[in-house]
Amino acid sequence: MSLSRLLNDARKSIGEFCMTECNAYCCRKGTIPANPKELKIIGPVETIDYKTHISFILPCPQLIDNKCMVHRKNNRPQVCKDFPIATHNGSVIISTGCLAVRENKLFPLIQKLKLKGIKVLMD
Ligand code: SF4
Ligand code: SF4
Repeated sequence: MSLSRLLNDARKSIGEFCMTECNAYCCRKGTIPANPKELKIIGPVETIDYKTHISFILPCPQLIDNKCMVHRKNNRPQVCKDFPIATHNGSVIISTGCLAVRENKLFPLIQKLKLKGIKVLMD
């Protein structure tokens, strides 16, 4: 199985937890980096200019009843597509800001990555 498929399957595996137990925490608090095309799809939001990038302030207006209204749209922010699993220089970075990660729900993924010899960083 390819790495991207493995990571996507792991993201899907926590989908139910996201909606029913976590209540989409990561769409409610904090900020999310987004480019102008991505911001267009999010709609009117307050933004912060960090010089290196722009982020919008949560809660996200596209979150309704714990569902992302732009989930299937291409211009959804890349961070949203990736979270809580990102890749960088061949390593996989798993966000400890995610409540599913804190509850060890991605342990099977971490084991598979280690077996494949892929470096896993917890951030
Ligand atoms: S914080 Fe993690 S578990 Fe909660 S909604 Fe976001 S991705 Fe899902
Ligand atoms: S676009 Fe969707 S996934 Fe991203 S913050 Fe908004 S509701 Fe959450």
